[in-house]
Amino acid sequence: MLGGTGEARRLAARLPGRVVSSLAGRVTDPRLPEGEVRIGGFGGVGGLVEWLRVNDVTAVVDATHPFAATMTAHAVEATALAGVPLLVLRRPGWTARPGDDWRWVDSLEEAAATLPGERVFLTTGRQDIGVFAGVDRWFLARSVEPPEPPVPHRLHVLLDRGPFTVDGEVALMRRHAVDVLVTKDSGGDQTAAKLVAARRLGIPVVVVRRPPPPAAPTVDSVDAAVEWVRRGSGGA
Ligand code: NAP
Repeated sequence: MLGGTGEARRLAARLPGRVVSSLAGRVTDPRLPEGEVRIGGFGGVGGLVEWLRVNDVTAVVDATHPFAATMTAHAVEATALAGVPLLVLRRPGWTARPGDDWRWVDSLEEAAATLPGERVFLTTGRQDIGVFAGVDRWFLARSVEPPEPPVPHRLHVLLDRGPFTVDGEVALMRRHAVDVLVTKDSGGDQTAAKLVAARRLGIPVVVVRRPPPPAAPTVDSVDAAVEWVRRGSGGA
């Protein structure tokens, strides 16, 4: 299982003894799933094909983050080459509710070019902060690990990791006088409190659309992925 998400941890816990979880190794203190874990890249498609063969893998579940598009593309290609079934587990995206002021964009670059505010709460993750480096705004950036240069000139970094509460998010946005929130359409409930907080405060939200869905069978729940593995599509 390709992991790095809450769904991946829940799936690993539901399939004891049957799963090796793979993490990219981006954070120094990752939340580890139950069971066997390996950490680090495979070395591209060829490396993943080799790893699947050497470890006698009978099925792959890609439970990576919806924006981990390179890993997912590699999984599609490598499983086809290795002749191993692949299931993609993707949580549903977020949907605007009455009172929301969401501005959908196709990329982080478009988000950086169209910010409807002066004091920006960036929740896109450390790896993406560089996209905003040349933008003349004040930024509050929240990430699990400190960002590396290039970063915006006026930047306050908050090291934290979800889940977050609505009250906490409201207080944070008020404290920093945030007037625009930037997020990816990650989906799920671990980080959705910021969207409720923005609605309450009447703050616009720039939402980055997900990359195109992969050309592979896809489910949107841990239950469905467990079922797929137990049914034998996962090589039982
Ligand atoms: P990415 O851009 O799609 O992948 C870049 C490279 O990182 C891959 O080619 C692969 O290296 C390695 N990699 C990524 N996920 C891996 C995994 N689960 N196991 C082993 N190697 C992996 O990925 P990313 O967006 O940097 O995300 C990295 C990890 O963080 C993922 O596991 C993802 O679930 C998690 N995550 C990402 C985000 C996000 O916003 N992107 C948010 C929360 C969590 P090789 O080519 O060497 O195999």
